[in-house]
Amino acid sequence: MIDSNKVSRLNVPRWEAVYRCEIVPGVISIIAIHDVTRGRALGGCRMTMYENESQALTDALRLSRGMTFKNAIADLPLGGGKSVIVCDPKVAGKERESILEAFGHFVAWVNRKHDVYYTAEDMNTTVADMHVAKRHTKHIFGTDVDPSPYTAWGVFSSIKYAVDYFAIDLFDGHRDIDGKSILIQGLGKVGRKLCQYLYEAGAKVIVSDIHEDSANAAAQQFPGVEIVKPDEVFKIEADVFAPCARGEVINHNNIDDLRFKIICGAANNQLENSKIGLLVQSKGIVYCPDYIANMGGVCSIQYLEIDQLSDEVTKENIERTVRKMLGLTFRAGFRKNLPFNEAVDHVVKQIVWGKPKENHGFSNQIIFPFTSTAEPA
Ligand code: NAD
Repeated sequence: MIDSNKVSRLNVPRWEAVYRCEIVPGVISIIAIHDVTRGRALGGCRMTMYENESQALTDALRLSRGMTFKNAIADLPLGGGKSVIVCDPKVAGKERESILEAFGHFVAWVNRKHDVYYTAEDMNTTVADMHVAKRHTKHIFGTDVDPSPYTAWGVFSSIKYAVDYFAIDLFDGHRDIDGKSILIQGLGKVGRKLCQYLYEAGAKVIVSDIHEDSANAAAQQFPGVEIVKPDEVFKIEADVFAPCARGEVINHNNIDDLRFKIICGAANNQLENSKIGLLVQSKGIVYCPDYIANMGGVCSIQYLEIDQLSDEVTKENIERTVRKMLGLTFRAGFRKNLPFNEAVDHVVKQIVWGKPKENHGFSNQIIFPFTSTAEPA
């Protein structure tokens, strides 16, 4: 058990609780619990170096708030939290084991009175690391389920919904995925599975990966899938662009070149900044907020690992939630005259903190040059 004298509770306004502990000599860990309005907080554990401790704290606070939003938009009975272990992520062997064991004790200490915070693997930590921490706490998730196929399912469901919702504006009323051209950037754990779902649904799939082998393997497995070179992605015209590689792929360098109708993928922080979201929307491109499109992974932890539901029910729940949240976001965007990357934050605030509804009429559509906001059947 961790020595209570080593733990300090930091006073951070608007955060439920923030704890700091030197878990082993020279290694600080911070656990930030942002909000538990909807339930115990869930958020992974990062292992990384920072320039100073204040940077580590800022990161933990920012990420824990992000988890409140992410878990709320996924409609899960979970609040938001995050933990960081401040050390060289390359640390290995016995030293790594003792850090993770101590981290497990710290998590157990934080939960000593009530269940308030559950963690999971995150940047620079692995499922194996979490098994080590789990020796000393039951407050670890994500050790039994591979979330990536469910993330892909959530992206697939989001693309289907967006195509359907904007069928009149963008596709002459054709609501099906069948025949739509869809460009996937990144064929890793998520992109490859998404490729399969889209291919099976009859889409015309185009793929791109910096590793030629990954792109070739997809083209071999799914005959007819086209490959584009990574530096030619933004020269392509496609109905849907699905970024599944890395963040900030939509930025000031390529915004003028974009010839997509919908952007919907798994990568976190796809837009360079929120102003880019406004520019995207002004061009008549529908952006599906990343943290709706990629919610399937965190949902799979709740439904499969915590609730022990079946694969089939898990997928049904993910699809239903994605449809609900995208619908709320699109409508909020129209009502408040906001780009969808900003509208989604209003939706979350209302879900978590019950902000009053306002302005129910549709406002003008200066920033969104579409004519129809009709809900699909
Ligand atoms: P991954 O590391 O398995 O795959 C990423 C793929 O993108 C790799 O094949 C890589 O070669 C490729 N890539 C990198 N840069 C590229 C570029 N410039 N152009 C083309 N290809 C490029 O990652 P993943 O688990 O498939 O996740 C994909 C994205 O989705 C990541 O941004 C991740 O943070 C996010 N995400 C993943 C999950 C999940 O469940 N795995 C959940 C939420 C969000």
